[in-house]
Amino acid sequence: MQCLVLLVLGVCLAGLCRAEWLSETRSMMGTEVSVELWATDPERGRAAQRAVLAEFHRLDEMMNPWNAQSLLAKINRRAFDDAVPVTPELIEVIQRSLYYSRLSGGAFDISFAAAGRYYDFREGRVPLASELAVAGPAIDYRQISVDSTAQSIRLGHREMSLDLGGIAKGYAVDRGIRILTDAGIESAVVSAGGDSRILGNLGDRPRMIGIRHPRKEDQYVVVIPLEDTAISTSGDYERFFERDGVRFHHILDPETGDSARKVRSASVIAPLAIDTDALSTTVFVLGVEKGLALVNSLPGVDAIIVDGEGKLHYSQELLLSTTE
Ligand code: ADP
Ligand code: MG
Repeated sequence: MQCLVLLVLGVCLAGLCRAEWLSETRSMMGTEVSVELWATDPERGRAAQRAVLAEFHRLDEMMNPWNAQSLLAKINRRAFDDAVPVTPELIEVIQRSLYYSRLSGGAFDISFAAAGRYYDFREGRVPLASELAVAGPAIDYRQISVDSTAQSIRLGHREMSLDLGGIAKGYAVDRGIRILTDAGIESAVVSAGGDSRILGNLGDRPRMIGIRHPRKEDQYVVVIPLEDTAISTSGDYERFFERDGVRFHHILDPETGDSARKVRSASVIAPLAIDTDALSTTVFVLGVEKGLALVNSLPGVDAIIVDGEGKLHYSQELLLSTTE
């Protein structure tokens, strides 16, 4: 035993044992993107970290509707007149979005942007009644046509506009984890704002992940052990302003074009971040009853909701595991 300790110590002193935690954070995709990983070879670890951040940049260039050069902006400009050819990645993300639209009866709908574009949370601006009247008929996921053979997208309404803000970060997080596993990394966390995916664990124990208190920035409502999973939280505290005691924030109910106000936050846990990202937004819009019913119908998916009064609600599997 002593020999082994001396041997390990000797190897470390010789500079061969250089494993370390690497952590890097950047402002991207309108939020903070962070890559934290355990690197047995720090040089290779740093290269993998750079590759993940470059991937985020590439996807942001493709999927940011506010960047006039992006493919998504091009869809929004032209796909009513003609089918617009797109990348397989955009097809995948839009198809997954439509899957959650169908599953939720339209609570998740990337065409919410017809109304969403009239909000300015920094300036405290909400859409006028006349703007909402024009936007209403253009919010309808059933009018988004994906041709996966021709790899193109077509929109069925002139006023229609797509925004992937409720799913693209999750997709990028999954891509980031894929880059890290391909590079041989076994323990890491990739996060983009409220969307995180955890690869592996902390050696002999899971990571403890806190879910933020929706009204007290420095407090958690619950802390849970997680490993090899994704978790996303959608909250009404990310981008908002209040007027006459009413909170206007960035998650919209596609039916009304107004902010969804049934709950304060919705967190979803599942293997992939593309799913937790879309589902946390979906459950936020659906509220406690319908949101939990949806999550309980999906195997391997869990949720924790903070309702309008600040009370916690858990999906079936989490309830079972906490009462065991
Ligand atoms: P965050 O972007 O703060 O991580 P979410 O994942 O909940 O939070 O996504 C909110 C974003 O999703 C909004 O900024 C907007 O781009 C988009 N979004 C808002 N309402 C909807 C909706 N009903 N369906 C799909 N996407 C939505
Ligand atoms: Mg989301």
